[in-house]
Amino acid sequence: MSRGTQAIVHLQALRHNLGVVRAHAAASKVMAVVKADGYGHGLERVARVLADGADAFGVAYTEDARRLRDIGLDHRIVLLSGVIDPDDLAEVRRLDAEIVVHDPGQLALLECNGASKPLKVWLKIDTGMHRLGFDPAEARAVHARLRALPHVDPDIVLMTHFASSDVAGDPRTRAQQALFQRTVDALPGARTLANSAALLGWPDSHADWVRAGGLLYGISVIEGRTGSDLGLHPAMTLRSRLIAVKRVARGERVGYGGDFVCPDDMRIGVVAIGYGDGYPRHVAGGTQVLVNGQPAGIVGRVSMDLVSVDLRGQPEARVGDPVVLWGRGLPVETIAAQAGTIGYELTCGMTRRVRFVEDDQPLD
Ligand SMILES: *Cc1c(COP(=O)(O)O)cnc(C)c1O
Repeated sequence: MSRGTQAIVHLQALRHNLGVVRAHAAASKVMAVVKADGYGHGLERVARVLADGADAFGVAYTEDARRLRDIGLDHRIVLLSGVIDPDDLAEVRRLDAEIVVHDPGQLALLECNGASKPLKVWLKIDTGMHRLGFDPAEARAVHARLRALPHVDPDIVLMTHFASSDVAGDPRTRAQQALFQRTVDALPGARTLANSAALLGWPDSHADWVRAGGLLYGISVIEGRTGSDLGLHPAMTLRSRLIAVKRVARGERVGYGGDFVCPDDMRIGVVAIGYGDGYPRHVAGGTQVLVNGQPAGIVGRVSMDLVSVDLRGQPEARVGDPVVLWGRGLPVETIAAQAGTIGYELTCGMTRRVRFVEDDQPLD
């Protein structure tokens, strides 16, 4: 049997969402963040679609930069994790990419490895996230050392990253912003602070560059609000179909462990999707899917290839009917909440057997 399980990527949604980002931060340049294979939507696909509207692309690793150059993309590409050793640095130079410099080892690497052509650098300062970045107390000295290198472009972008910009009015974000401001006050160069959540919730953090990931894919990380609530369109619809429909008597159990006990004589639909595709195993019972566009709840445990749904509300449903797991009409954020995670993790988690299909139809 052919599975018919597809991740449909809505190209017009990507374009639309970039427009929304631009409208929110009209005075800023936009770095389109495409790490983790474009949040699972396909790196090359997303980059091609957004090439017209993005000022730069943000990736995590050198391999991603190589893939983008391989398709002929000549945009600025920024390696958000920087470089790790001399070979990596040489490859970055060959690719004409730019690097975030966030720790002393990277600074030393640059100091020991000259080149004829200047490299563009984004200096990352840790203002409270405590993941990557220099201590604010060292920032000016690091900046001076970078400026002293003839093979580093003197136009250094100053950068920090928020830990909780998704929380409205959070004093920690205020504090990070203030510390960043104090730290870079006397330094020349463009500034960048905002990720998607800050783009929406902290307009005074937009500065010279915003770094948008989730919003481009139509995904909100703001609790209780979906991308659609924010004027975005989902860029991915995960779709499968019913491959069996059966009658199960009241009192019988469904699925591994028999967690679900039928409260009625009822019809159960079996959908060709499971954790082997990247659908989360840990969703709560009753999590919605759309069968023929109508909601139906999951019953029992999600298995590797299959999941069962309650068809009591859908007497017409039959084998072959389409089932949407998330995307249009069913926000991925809602499903993620049922699985105790965020939408990003779900779109990033599609496995290799899911077939990706592009949809370039106009949005309705
Ligand atoms: C991933 C990432 C972003 C984008 O975050 P979103 O919440 O998806 O907008 C921005 N900046 C850095 C440094 C990142 O790693």
